[in-house]
Amino acid sequence: MTTTTHAIAVPSPGAPLAPTTIERRDLRPDDVLIDIAFAGICHSDIHQAREDWGEAIFPMVPGHEIAGVVAAVGPEVTKYRVGDRVGVGCMVDSCGECEYCRAGTEQFCVRGNVQTYNGVGFDGEKTYGGYSRQIVVKEAFVCRIPEGIGLDVAAPLLCAGITTYSPLRQWGAGPGKKVAVVGLGGLGHMAVKLAAAMGAEVTVLSQSLKKREDGLRLGATGYYATSDEGTFEALRGRFDLILNTVSAKLPVDAYLGLLRVGGAMVNVGAPGEPLSYNAFSLLGGNRVLAGSMIGGIAETQEMLDFCAEHGIGAEIETISADQVNEAYERVDNSDVRYRFVIDASTIGA
Ligand code: NAP
Ligand code: ZN
Repeated sequence: MTTTTHAIAVPSPGAPLAPTTIERRDLRPDDVLIDIAFAGICHSDIHQAREDWGEAIFPMVPGHEIAGVVAAVGPEVTKYRVGDRVGVGCMVDSCGECEYCRAGTEQFCVRGNVQTYNGVGFDGEKTYGGYSRQIVVKEAFVCRIPEGIGLDVAAPLLCAGITTYSPLRQWGAGPGKKVAVVGLGGLGHMAVKLAAAMGAEVTVLSQSLKKREDGLRLGATGYYATSDEGTFEALRGRFDLILNTVSAKLPVDAYLGLLRVGGAMVNVGAPGEPLSYNAFSLLGGNRVLAGSMIGGIAETQEMLDFCAEHGIGAEIETISADQVNEAYERVDNSDVRYRFVIDASTIGA
């Protein structure tokens, strides 16, 4: 048995999104049924809808920044009750037994984590994401959204929030550290807020100065245009950490030159094309080039609690279901301030 719910789907690679209906499974003992209130639009949704990362599963219902309210729980659910405010991010299952799952880094599950959409569950069923009215998720992959964060501004925390929080923590963003954030989009604006709240000195490196006022309001103290060649000379050797959130290919060597000796450039941006660098850009300064993928469930909860404590939510533009294609185009043109969030009540309405 299943329940039919309204959704928005990409029918085939690169095609516009269109209304549809999908089936959600009946609750298993450890499942939670969530009435989705808001779903964020992540650039990863766009990459996958277009198969930038390789073959994908269609029709695709994107959405891994989900915030809503618990509508029902299975008999073995202990953490959540009907009416609780909850969120779901990029994963809905993992083996739970491997060394990475046991360490709380389910994203690296050796069996492969089950992605919230464009994935296949361990039961063989395809997964469909948050651009829908309801979703059924195993309790262990549901996080609690603390009181004090609106569900709309909380939704983007489930991907953009954790994807930036995790590397900022891992690489020691905090007092006395100079952090540069490359790209002021969905991930970038969260990185600025979070790094500033952690006590780091934050600089934004954006393509232009168009969003400078916003960047400074979000917590940055420096803001530079990467289209200005003087920027790379002026900031040479400046940063302890560079967080690259850009969705396209970047000239990596130019950015590595901005690191102090021993500094790290961490990529969270996931362009379809390969990045390249000159070995001497790393050797000359014991520099590190690293990557980071989302964050585990426990760390996602820690991030949500940190955001509540510091009064942090995403800066959003709320849209209705019929504006999703236009929103995709605007994200593609770096014309988003700073996350589109779909009001799920408009899906199928
Ligand atoms: P977004 O909102 O579109 O932000 C990306 C920003 O990058 C843009 O706002 C723009 O900022 C800058 N940018 C875009 N094209 C550029 C270009 N050609 N050259 C230089 N800068 C450019 O996207 P997002 O949702 O934050 O996602 C960013 C990337 O992270 C995507 O590739 C996404 O798939 C990836 N991602 C990775 C993870 C992970 O686990 N690692 C998780 C989520 C998302 P300015 O206008 O300020 O220059
Ligand atoms: Zn995402």
